[in-house]
Amino acid sequence: MKKGDKILFVIVIAVLLIASIGTYAYKLAFKDKDKIAVIKENGKVVKTINLSKLKGTEKFDIKSGDHFNTIVVENNKISIIDADCPDKVCIKTGWISDAGQSIVCLPNKVIVSIEGEKTMSKTPSDIDGASY
Ligand SMILES: [Zn+2]
Repeated sequence: MKKGDKILFVIVIAVLLIASIGTYAYKLAFKDKDKIAVIKENGKVVKTINLSKLKGTEKFDIKSGDHFNTIVVENNKISIIDADCPDKVCIKTGWISDAGQSIVCLPNKVIVSIEGEKTMSKTPSDIDGASY
């Protein structure tokens, strides 16, 4: 092995190490952040649930005028299991469990999203209403 190769080798190892430590720290930092499910009806927040602290299963209805969406929450995940909307897209979406994911029920104007504490502040406040 030439001297130049050795230096390159050391650099590569160092970069790999830093990258893996970075990824680890990043994951660790995010693990500590609670996942908050935010349920919006017609652009207004009607319910927030800390999914990270949830134990067992909870089921409830979000009523929007004459319409409803039945939502089930479990530890770190949330799903719409029933709704009276015509397309049932929200039910087909299934479970979501990561910050940044969302379930949208356009006919009922219900949006369920998961926000980590970090992503919460980054979410643009004008995201609601703009799509209606
Ligand atoms: Zn729906």
